[in-house]
Amino acid sequence: MFRKRPFTNSLISRNMNALLFSLLGTFLFLFSIRHLSLHYSSDQWLLLGSMFCASLILYFYTFQIPPEGSKQSMDSAVYLACLFIFGTPAALALLLLSSLLFALLERKVSWWKHLTNFAIYTIMIFGAGTVFQGLGGQQGQLQNVHLLSYVGALIIYFAINVLCIGIYYYMIDRSDIYRMVKGLLQESVLVYLCILILSLVLTILIVNNGITGLVLFLGISIFLSHLFKKLFDMYMQLQERAIRDQRTGLFNHSYFENLLEKEIRYARSESTPLSLAMIDIDDFKRYNDHFGHLQGDKLLGLLGSILQEEAARAGVTAARYGGEEFTLLMPGYTEQEALILVNRLRKMVNDTAFEGVEILPHACLSFSAGISSYHIDIHDKSLLVLQADQALYDAKKQGKNIAYIFGSSVPIEQEIEIAQDVRDIEQLLNLFLYKDINTFKHSKRVFRYAMDMSLLLKLDANTRKQFVLGALIHDIGKLEIPWEILNKKDALTPVEWEAIKKHVNWGKEMAMTNDKFKGLAPYIELHHERYDGHGYPHGYKGAEIPLLCRMLTIIDSFDAMTSERPYQATKSIKEAIEELRLCSGTQFDPELSELFIAYIEGKTGLEPAQAESSL
Ligand code: GH3
Ligand code: MG
Ligand code: MG
Repeated sequence: MFRKRPFTNSLISRNMNALLFSLLGTFLFLFSIRHLSLHYSSDQWLLLGSMFCASLILYFYTFQIPPEGSKQSMDSAVYLACLFIFGTPAALALLLLSSLLFALLERKVSWWKHLTNFAIYTIMIFGAGTVFQGLGGQQGQLQNVHLLSYVGALIIYFAINVLCIGIYYYMIDRSDIYRMVKGLLQESVLVYLCILILSLVLTILIVNNGITGLVLFLGISIFLSHLFKKLFDMYMQLQERAIRDQRTGLFNHSYFENLLEKEIRYARSESTPLSLAMIDIDDFKRYNDHFGHLQGDKLLGLLGSILQEEAARAGVTAARYGGEEFTLLMPGYTEQEALILVNRLRKMVNDTAFEGVEILPHACLSFSAGISSYHIDIHDKSLLVLQADQALYDAKKQGKNIAYIFGSSVPIEQEIEIAQDVRDIEQLLNLFLYKDINTFKHSKRVFRYAMDMSLLLKLDANTRKQFVLGALIHDIGKLEIPWEILNKKDALTPVEWEAIKKHVNWGKEMAMTNDKFKGLAPYIELHHERYDGHGYPHGYKGAEIPLLCRMLTIIDSFDAMTSERPYQATKSIKEAIEELRLCSGTQFDPELSELFIAYIEGKTGLEPAQAESSL
């Protein structure tokens, strides 16, 4: 997979950046080098040669500065000392020779990077040299009376460096330049102070003790560089620990919150999509109660590692939000793309074997997810989380092991005229939560299809009500089927098949006991009749079967074909449509089949996993 964030802008900015720095640096170099004098004594040549070697050695003993780990080289102290003793042109000549050698030694680094680096150093040395001279500084011995010029040169050297790094990172991710520079200043000021003071110490040492002074300086610098490296490693370890959740290895809540804020800012400024999924393990309490918390922790660890691996592959960030809740932050993903990713992950989790998951309602490890996407009205990160949470709640209500996009689950159940009846039937269906979760979810999906079809068929209010309630209750007779048969994984025996078939009669009888549901009996009784007369329980044919019962048969079969089961492949929408066409005229009413197919195709060829939340 790929990281979907568009890189192009930052890449162009980075190249532009490098070009501008290079042009300015080269110009300043050519401008200054004209004044280079080569009339040095042999001692001075020896000293310059030693400084060149020192800058080389120090190039490899860098100070790593948090948070990005940018490396601050100690060779700056040598260039500055050279500047104070021999002047700007000599320091630049030293820089040129060193840079050429570094470029030869590190050929893996591209030439333009070497050039940019050289240019930035040139700008810094030129700035420092100009200020040094401007404030009356004199080459050679360090003079107390000119302390101000040394300090001025050092400050400028530091300021230009911070500014260049600030501009560089700003061009890449467009973060707030003021905050960026402030952060850099806070983090690197101590290292810089150290380098700058060392450059003065080096000046004194070189002027008074020549090469011995230089060697002494090298010793201290190498030692300090080593120390800084150790400190940086420690910092990195602590930082890593501070943003990771120990149990799952995923990022923790506070890291997620920070990242979310950053990503929302990015999505707003660049107008790129951003989606968030809240993921909650289904019935985890039951698993914990059954196997104990230690085993529950192992399950969390397993889910954590799956999420981490898949998130890395898809270029998104997974975090543990808390308890048994996780988040996926998906920059560059629209809500539909996010839904596809989450559903792929969900299916993968469903198909992952883990000790004891058979006791869970779906007989597999599962989670529910709510997805929200950034749009212009999202003014605060908590709103995005809230919306994902709301969608998650809806997914849980629909029987779990589902992913929903915020706002896609139209609360049709709440339509005034059928609300109470729907609630009554749902009370009955809740029994399936323990007996057969798949029938529970199937009934709810069939109800939704029926709602849509009732609009297409332009049913009057009363017929519509009977049809959708009939769709919701159609499998109620399955409550009478023994648990072992209902949840049997192997093929059913003929006797067991007979029991299954009886659910239409049992369901009808159950409906007849309640005046409110009597009118729904035909849907329960006749949804397994076939158009060609080979169905059950009566073997009615064609128009003998009421039209809406024929419609329900199609919906019922289509959902059965496309619904997911753990460890099993599911028919795609396309395959299910082919199957409907194949059985049109035999199992299904041909006209109604085409009507239903047109409706499904109108949903733009979505995959079955999407169908759950979108249809
Ligand atoms: P639902 O499908 O509605 O999400 O039900 P649920 O049982 O998953 O959710 P509920 O909120 O009722 O319970 C969450 C459970 O998660 C309760 C708690 O014991 C468990 N849990 C939270 N954090 C941890 C943890 O770090 N380790 C273990 N083993 N269990 C945890
Ligand atoms: Mg929970
Ligand atoms: Mg849960």
